[in-house]
Amino acid sequence: MRISKFIFGLIIIALFIASGSCLLAQTQSKYYKFWDQSNGLPIQLPELKRDDHVYLPLIPIMTNLKKSVSWNYKTGEVILGANNLVQMILLQPTLLLGTDSLSIDPICQINGQLAITPLSARLLLESLLSQNVYLNLKLQQLIIGNPPSELKQNSLLTPPLASRTRIIFSAPKSNKLYQVKTIIIDPGHGGIDSGAIGYDGRYFEKQATLAIALKVVAILRKHPGLQVLMTRTGDYYVSLQQRCQFANEHNGDVFVAIHCNSDSDGIAYGTETYIYSSHASSARALREANYENQGNGRFLSYIKADLREEAYRGRSFLLAEKIDYLIHKRLKLYVRRIQQAPFYVLAHVNMPSILIETAFISNPHEEKELEDPVWQERMAEAIADGILEYRKIVEQTVENK
Ligand SMILES: [Zn+2]
Repeated sequence: MRISKFIFGLIIIALFIASGSCLLAQTQSKYYKFWDQSNGLPIQLPELKRDDHVYLPLIPIMTNLKKSVSWNYKTGEVILGANNLVQMILLQPTLLLGTDSLSIDPICQINGQLAITPLSARLLLESLLSQNVYLNLKLQQLIIGNPPSELKQNSLLTPPLASRTRIIFSAPKSNKLYQVKTIIIDPGHGGIDSGAIGYDGRYFEKQATLAIALKVVAILRKHPGLQVLMTRTGDYYVSLQQRCQFANEHNGDVFVAIHCNSDSDGIAYGTETYIYSSHASSARALREANYENQGNGRFLSYIKADLREEAYRGRSFLLAEKIDYLIHKRLKLYVRRIQQAPFYVLAHVNMPSILIETAFISNPHEEKELEDPVWQERMAEAIADGILEYRKIVEQTVENK
């Protein structure tokens, strides 16, 4: 009897706790009503919160509209719909829709879910579907098409854009990301694209870059545990897009583009090393990037490069520094300070990357050196040893311990 009373009491307490937690859950959870008028009944979207801002889960919205979502954890890229219709990057305030770009509050990740602010969801849906989308923050409604008349009478509240703080992305500190196993060597130009032409019109940039690159690769391949790949191995044309795609598909850990410099007066001399920046460090740097970009100009996809710039900047700089030091020490070349410019190839590879303008092919003296196999070998050794020194430092960094 006593026992049954005890059990009864326990049940009562359990029921009380359960009802309490239910009540609690009801008061804490908030939902947005999302309704595609052409597609039946409303669904409920749980409200997600971060820093007092309300977000909505993006994937259920897209699933409801029968649009695919793909999300790359490594690069933070999010692609919606077929044929890469919408491209976004986590924490970036711009999205690409076909050939248009749209400013949004950056999407982010909350409790493992892709999250978008209601206002950005509205902007995105209007652009994506070319339809009116009604947003009522007070009634928590997001409706595609014509809202019911009672809702129409309510004022549709559109708040000012949330402040768009730029959040700096840093690459996840995992061992894998800080290893240097796969090295991509990119000899500039090739085939119909001869690159810059030597002082007397006889020797081409594409010849010098390939000769040096082949020597760099031969040196690096003697080191066990390294995979060394080239974006071209002969005299043929490879587009800048193909070079980047190759590097990314092979999961390169470092990308080194080899080029020759050129100046109209034939007087300029020395070596210049570049790392990526959306802003050129000088007018010369910008001219050089424009030349090497072969009319690829400022692609909309350069916004993606902002993310990579933040993630890889430190390591790209370190690599440039190591190689510059060895070129100066061993070849006695005049080495300018590390330059920054929006080079296409540097902007589009998912890894630390540099572009080396080894010497001026437009300068008669340096052209002779660029043609000389002995000089090429010394240049290749400086580049290869610079990469190896970089590798040693990167693999010993605190992040790897
Ligand atoms: Zn070039």
